[in-house]
Amino acid sequence: MIKKIGRNDLCWCQSGRKYKACHMAFDEKLTQCKDKGYKIPSRKMIKNQEQLDGIRESGKVNIAVLDYVAEHIQVGMSTEEIDRMVYEKTLEYNGIPAPLNFEGYPKSVCTSINEEVCHGIPSKDIILKDGDIVNVDVSTIYKDYFSDSSRMFCLGKVSPEKQKLVDDTKKAIELGLSYVKPWHRIGEMGNAIYEFAREHGYSVVREVGGHGVGIEFHEEPFVSYCCPKESGVVMAPGMVFTIEPMINLGRSDIVMDDENGWTIYTEDGMPSAQWEVTVAVTEEGYEKLAY
Ligand SMILES: [Zn+2]
Repeated sequence: MIKKIGRNDLCWCQSGRKYKACHMAFDEKLTQCKDKGYKIPSRKMIKNQEQLDGIRESGKVNIAVLDYVAEHIQVGMSTEEIDRMVYEKTLEYNGIPAPLNFEGYPKSVCTSINEEVCHGIPSKDIILKDGDIVNVDVSTIYKDYFSDSSRMFCLGKVSPEKQKLVDDTKKAIELGLSYVKPWHRIGEMGNAIYEFAREHGYSVVREVGGHGVGIEFHEEPFVSYCCPKESGVVMAPGMVFTIEPMINLGRSDIVMDDENGWTIYTEDGMPSAQWEVTVAVTEEGYEKLAY
């Protein structure tokens, strides 16, 4: 039996404030959502102000590292060199690359080229070529807070269809962001991306999606971009998650690299694109914490 929290008790979010001045109205809103039959987020998914501030600072490092990659990435460079840039820049900003040694992952960043959907492992033997599209996925731990974002880079003379895939995938992110509204279900965002991709003739990867982030690298909820709009938890202020659809030029089917156990490819060998933003739900809408 959990004791009901009193108006003058300290709030459950550990802000140190009284419940009535902190999350009391929030809990009433969530109860209304629950009464409508919506799934509601667990308290673990709700960040307090101090945590949001910490994730924002982590996001600044993540953005700075990606900006540095954007300035230096070029044809003829190995993906190992991207890994080195990410490692060194992150440490220079007093951060730690979150992927390094995460569940045995050997590098500081994921670099996924063309038909690689995600989790491409940097290597000195993989050289960026003219016409490649590459996703660079950077995740940072800064003062114990996690942030996560990725960008696509088009190298040299990229084919028009690949260029359009990259541009449209970015538009899908922007569209998804416009659906991040407090007290709406996260499925509305995911479904908007799905419909957009389908309308433009693409498919969306189902098996891999976004995730909560901030206190840990990967938290609840799983964020799908292939779902009915009536699905998923309510987006409540204080939630932080990633929007990172993987959009394919061909079919949605994917295969995993047996040898390295990480890299995911499109089964049909057609190109795939992905952008990723870490977003916080606010009282008014959303805030991009890393992009
Ligand atoms: Zn609170």
